[in-house]
Amino acid sequence: MSEIAGVILLVVLAGLGGAVVGRRRGGRGDVTRPARSAGAKIARLEGEERRAREILEGMSEGVLVLSTSMTPVLANRAARRLLALAGSHLPPRIPSDEVVSIARRALSEQDVIETDLGPSAAGPSLRVRVVPLGEPDGVVVFLHDATEEQRTQQLRRQFVAHASHELKTPVASLQTLVEAIASAADDRDATARFTQRLSVEIGRLNALIDDLMDLSRVEDPAAMRIDEVDLSEIARSRAKETADTAAASVTLESNVEEGVIVRGDARQLELLVRNLLDNAVRYTLEGGRVIVSLRKQGSAARLEVADDGIGIPLAAQSRIFERFYRVDEDRARASGGTGLGLSIVKNVAESHGGTVSVSSELDEGSTFTVMLPLADGAR
Ligand code: ADP
Repeated sequence: MSEIAGVILLVVLAGLGGAVVGRRRGGRGDVTRPARSAGAKIARLEGEERRAREILEGMSEGVLVLSTSMTPVLANRAARRLLALAGSHLPPRIPSDEVVSIARRALSEQDVIETDLGPSAAGPSLRVRVVPLGEPDGVVVFLHDATEEQRTQQLRRQFVAHASHELKTPVASLQTLVEAIASAADDRDATARFTQRLSVEIGRLNALIDDLMDLSRVEDPAAMRIDEVDLSEIARSRAKETADTAAASVTLESNVEEGVIVRGDARQLELLVRNLLDNAVRYTLEGGRVIVSLRKQGSAARLEVADDGIGIPLAAQSRIFERFYRVDEDRARASGGTGLGLSIVKNVAESHGGTVSVSSELDEGSTFTVMLPLADGAR
C-alpha cells in the first residue's frame, strides 16, 4: 500500500473537512469580516476540495471511508470497482463482510491493520490496509487489487514444489544405484551395469538443471542481450547440429531463406530452435522425417519445425507449453525430456514479441510454428 495514497488521503480529508471547517470559519467571518472575503475563501476551499476529489477519483488504489457504524461515507472510483459497488450512490453497507470485520477490529484496537483477502465471488483478491481515524470519524480503508501478485506467488510456489519433486526423482535413483554398487563390489559385471545407469541418471539430472537455469534466464527480461540476430544462420547451424547428433534413422531436412534478421537475444533464439528440433527428433519414430523451414512472411519471420512422429492428442495441445507438462510421462522421461523445453520456447517467443503455436494429429506428426517480428531493416 503506497505512502502516496496516505498523503493523498490526508489531502482529501483535509479537503472534505476543510469544506466544513471553512463554512464554520465563514460563519464567524460573516460577523467579523466583509462578506466578499468570506465568499472568496469559500470559493478557494471549494476549488481545493474539487481538486482533491479529482485526485482521489484518478487513483488506482481504492479509498473507502467508513463511519464508526460502518456506513460508507466516501468511496473513490477504484474502491467502487474493487468492491463491485454499482452506481455512483453509496449503499448503506458495503458488500464485503471481511472488510467490515477488519475495519471494526482496527477501530476497536485503534491500530493499523494490513492483510490479504483471497478472491471473492464478487471481485478480485484484495490487499486491505485499514487506518483508524478515531471517534467520531471511523476508518479509512485502502484497497489494492492483489489478484495478479497472488497468482504469481501461487505459480512460484507450485513451480518450486514441482521442481523439487522433479529433482528428487533422479537423486533417489542415484542413491539407490550407489547403494547397489557398494553391495555388488565383488561382482564386476553388476558394478559395470550399475555404473552405466548411474551415468545415465547423472545425465538426466544435468539436463534438468540446465533446463531450469535456461528457464530462469529466459524469464528474466534484464538478462536479455538485444542485437540484430541472423535467424537464418541459427536455423541452419542448429539443423546441422541436430542432423549430426540425431539417430541415423531420422532424416532432417532444412529449407531456410537467407537474411531473415530479427532483433533479440541470439542465445535465447538458439535455445528456442534447439528445443523444437530436439523434440521433433525425440518424438519421431524410426524412419521418420523432420523438416525445419524459415521464411519471411510480411513483417514477420516464420519458423516451422515439422515432424511425422507420434503427434499430440488434441486435448493436450493447449497444455504442452506448461512447465513440466508431458503427454506421456514415462515416454518423455525415457527419451531424456525434462518437461521444460516448450515452456522455454514459449517464453523466448513471447519475450521477443512473437508467438508459438502447434498443429498436430495423433500418429501423423506435429508442426510447431514460431512467428517473430523482423528487424526494421529486414522487412
Ligand atoms: P519434454 O522435455 O518432456 O519433451 P517439452 O516441454 O519439450 O518437454 O514438451 C512437453 C510435452 O509435449 C512432451 O512431453 C511431449 O509429450 C509433447 N511434445 C513436445 N514436442 C512434441 C513433438 N514434436 N511431437 C510429439 N509430442 C511432443
